Amino acid sequence: MVLALAACARAPEPVRREFFALGTLVEITVYGLDEARALAAIGAARAELERLDAAWRPWGAGELGTLNRALEAGASAPVSAELAALLARAAALERASGGRFNAGIGQLVRLWDFDGEAPQGPPPDAGHIAAWRAAAPGLAALRVAGGVAASANRALAVDLGAIGKGYGARRAGVALASHGVRDALLAVGGDILALGQAGGRPWRIAIRGPRGGLLGGLTLASGEAVSTSGDYERYYVWNGRRFHHLLDPATGADAGGVREVLVVTDDPVLADAAATALFVAGPAHWREVARDLGVEVALAVRADGTIAATPAARRRVEPVDGRRFEEVP
Ligand code: ADP
Ligand code: MG
Repeated sequence: MVLALAACARAPEPVRREFFALGTLVEITVYGLDEARALAAIGAARAELERLDAAWRPWGAGELGTLNRALEAGASAPVSAELAALLARAAALERASGGRFNAGIGQLVRLWDFDGEAPQGPPPDAGHIAAWRAAAPGLAALRVAGGVAASANRALAVDLGAIGKGYGARRAGVALASHGVRDALLAVGGDILALGQAGGRPWRIAIRGPRGGLLGGLTLASGEAVSTSGDYERYYVWNGRRFHHLLDPATGADAGGVREVLVVTDDPVLADAAATALFVAGPAHWREVARDLGVEVALAVRADGTIAATPAARRRVEPVDGRRFEEVP
C-alpha cells in the first residue's frame, strides 16, 4: 500500500502505467525517456510479470501447478533453473525466519480459500487444520536435484505468494534497465522497488496505514525495496469474524497481533518474504525475526494501533497524520 508522491515540478513528465499481474495492481513509473521508449520498456516489464504469473500460479497450468499436483500424488516434476533458484532462496528464508515464512504452505492456503480470485470461506474445520499441522510441510522437505523436484511429504505444496511479488519487481526492473530505463519506481502491490531517481530528486513514497490514513513518508535510494504485508490485503468475513490471508504455519490459522508490517532493504526478494515473516512472528517476536533475517529497517503496527519501529526505521520513516513510532532497540 504505497503512493508515489509528486516529484519536483520542473522535472520532465514521467510515464506511468497500471495493470494487474501476480494477483495485484502493478504500477510502473518511468522518468527520463520519451513516451514511446518508456512505453516499450514498461511493456517488457509487464510481459515479464505476466510470464511469472502464468508459470507460478500454485494450481494453474504452469510449472508450479504441475509441480504441486505431482507432489500431492507423491511423484516428482521438472523445475526450471529459475524456479529451483527461488525455491532454494525460499528454503533459506524459511530456516532463517524460524518457519514463519514458509513457501510450502500451499495446501493450507487452499484450505482457507485464499488461493482463488475471491476468497469467501467458510474457514476450514479444525480437523483439516490439525492434519496439515501434523504433516508439518515446509520447503525443508523438498528435494531439488538435476532439474527435478520431489518430496516424501504429500502435504507439501509450493505457494510463492509471499516472495513472488518481490522477485517479480526485481525481474521487471531488469527488463526496464535492458530497455534503457535508469529512473523508475515499480510497485507490485505492496512490494516497491526504486531505481535511480524521480526526475533529478530521490524517490519519495507514502505508506498507507492498515485502517486508512497514512503511516509515514520515506525517501528511497536507488536499488532500495520496500515491502508491506497487512491483514487488509485479502480477507473475508464469516459469522461476523474477519479472516485474512497471512497464515501462521505454527497454528494453521491467520496470524494475530499485528495489522501491518513495513520492511526496507536493498533486496526486493528478502523484503517481500521478510514482511510476511515479521507479520506472522507477531508483536512479541517480529523484532528478533528481523534481526535473524538481517533486516534493519522494519516497523510493525500492532493490533491496538500502536506502532513499533526499529531504530533505523525511526530514522528513515517520517510519521504523518499524528502517528507515533515507539523505538524497539
Ligand atoms: P500481500 O502483499 O498480499 O500482503 P504477502 O507477501 O504477505 O502478500 O504474501 C501473502 C500470500 O503468501 C498469501 O496470500 C499466501 O498465498 C502466502 N502465505 C500466507 N501465509 C504465508 C506464510 N506464513 N509464509 C509464506 N507464504 C504465506
Ligand atoms: Mg511478502
